[in-house]
Amino acid sequence: MAVRARAVVLAADGFAASRDARRALPDARGAFYGGVSTSTGDAITWGVGLGAAVRNMGAFLGHGMVVPGHGTRLNPVLPFLGALLVGTDGRRFADEKAQGYSKLGRLIAARPDGRAVLVWDERMHGIAMRSELMRESAAAGAFSRHDTPAGLAASLGLPPDALAATLGGFRAVSVAQDPRGVDHGPLRFPLYAGRVTHGVLTTQGGLLVDETGRVLHRDGGAIGGLYAGGGSACGVSGPSAEGYSSGNGLLTALGFGWIIGDRLAAPLGPPAA
Ligand SMILES: Cc1cc2nc3c(=O)[nH]c(=O)nc-3n(C[C@H](O)[C@H](O)[C@H](O)COP(=O)(O)OP(=O)(O)OC[C@H]3O[C@@H](n4cnc5c(N)ncnc54)[C@H](O)[C@@H]3O)c2cc1C
Repeated sequence: MAVRARAVVLAADGFAASRDARRALPDARGAFYGGVSTSTGDAITWGVGLGAAVRNMGAFLGHGMVVPGHGTRLNPVLPFLGALLVGTDGRRFADEKAQGYSKLGRLIAARPDGRAVLVWDERMHGIAMRSELMRESAAAGAFSRHDTPAGLAASLGLPPDALAATLGGFRAVSVAQDPRGVDHGPLRFPLYAGRVTHGVLTTQGGLLVDETGRVLHRDGGAIGGLYAGGGSACGVSGPSAEGYSSGNGLLTALGFGWIIGDRLAAPLGPPAA
């Protein structure tokens, strides 16, 4: 059945749920998929079929706080509150507070085993537990509480000597309270710890649109009456997983929804009182 319309708005998200298409994301190999099943890239395929240009198809919202074996996530605020991230060798490999969670996913993916352990103390725990995803992680048993360095090392399978040395040299610096950093000194027992790995939540590349949401043709100009927003359109995160800033996904969904809706509703005049 053919349906005529003055305009069509494509808003069916990106393609992260498609295993085959996900293979095209060069940085997502081996990543856990933590998005929704409906993000199969249909709208992008339809747009491309009409001649649309695409951009930044390697970009995605990654995550470095996915708990392997549970599929839940630890609260990504923890590194910004001063949590410690160690590899399975018990040593630090990144400045925890200097990365967004998408970039942190890339750093964990680059580890030989793609795994790390996040460690935090009571001062951070109360704040982190305010989020639903952290309460889900607690219910799933995705992290544990420890009273001694030896207990923590044994439970998480970390080399005790390397972990003790790392803990001894670490200072919990919070950039969540002040971007210049507040030094809270060493982590204080009891400590909490959870294993983490890298994941993909949604893609950020897609149909090329102009600032009003019109889909652009690969030969130039706009495709008449065709609009796209959210994950179906090329977002604002740049070409890889590193450029994703918190909120970029909903920014383009809400932002383009607003802009396109305003534009299409304009000829109809103001709403009746
Ligand atoms: C676990 C998780 C956490 C996230 N956290 C954040 C966050 O904190 N901040 C942030 O900004 N972003 C976050 N995001 C990303 C954000 O959710 C997405 O970028 C955003 O929802 C995309 O909006 P959308 O409208 O394009 O797609 P969606 O919200 O996925 O909506 C698309 C709709 O299209 C429907 N659809 C798909 N295919 C078809 C079809 N062929 N026919 C008909 N309907 C179809 C789907 O069923 C769905 O209802 C998160 C994503 C995930 C998975």
